[in-house]
Amino acid sequence: MKIDIKDYLISKKAMFSKIKPNDTGPFEASKKGKEQARSLFATQQETLAELQERLYADGKQSLLVIFQAMDAGGKDGCIEKVVGSFDPQGVKVSSFKAPTAEELAHDFLWRIHKETPAKGLIGVFNRSHYEDVLVVRVKDLVPKSVWSKRYALINAFERGLVEAGTQVIKIYLHIDKEEQKKRLQERLDDPSKQWKFNPGDLQEREKWDDYMEAFEEAFKQSEIPWYVVPANYKWYRDAVVAQILIETLQKMDLKYPGLEYDPKEVKIK
Ligand code: AMP
Ligand code: MG
Repeated sequence: MKIDIKDYLISKKAMFSKIKPNDTGPFEASKKGKEQARSLFATQQETLAELQERLYADGKQSLLVIFQAMDAGGKDGCIEKVVGSFDPQGVKVSSFKAPTAEELAHDFLWRIHKETPAKGLIGVFNRSHYEDVLVVRVKDLVPKSVWSKRYALINAFERGLVEAGTQVIKIYLHIDKEEQKKRLQERLDDPSKQWKFNPGDLQEREKWDDYMEAFEEAFKQSEIPWYVVPANYKWYRDAVVAQILIETLQKMDLKYPGLEYDPKEVKIK
């Protein structure tokens, strides 16, 4: 079963409006499809672990994976699953909430830049600087004259990361409004999930169309293209995200470093 990640990389052919949240690619949307995708995922996890070790050993580049989604879009679950493949010593997850007073007293990239991964490491962003052209735009938190300049600032910032050896992957987990309703209801019904429900999420839900517009604009303005990953089915979402990470890491040409000794000459007494 081959997942073609190009189908989800935003381009003239793969447009946001054409990518369906309930797409399951080569898998059937059934129990059988789920089992196949979960079994593929187990293999993908092993590949990811090997690639991470190479990234660390090579020590010259880093990987940054940015996750964005609507509320209940599955960021936490997907990060838990995919990051679970890695050695915890080589990966760091950073979650970005509404900015603190100190963060607001700086430019919007200040808190972001500090969290970017050092060479050899993987950084995962649960929300990101894109909030500053998403929620900030939808809720008018700053004037348009301010947020509209941020697209160019974001492109320049990300270009700087790439120049320094950081591969940047941007992932939007794509659920539809019906699926969000189902997931929010599940949070309300399940005592172990109620803590995740935030009554404020319902106000954001009412602005669904404004958010879609803001996302679409962010995708359009982005120099490094976004992956829009169908995310109604969690098992397909996880396999697609794993595949994106695998193919990106494989292209990075990671090498074990040259040795300053000859292993054959070393005698351990
Ligand atoms: P959660 O990810 O569910 O813990 O929620 C985090 C909240 O922080 C979301 O409602 C985000 O929209 C909000 N948030 C994150 N970054 C920003 C930002 N730069 N400005 C305003 N709100 C933000
Ligand atoms: Mg939330």
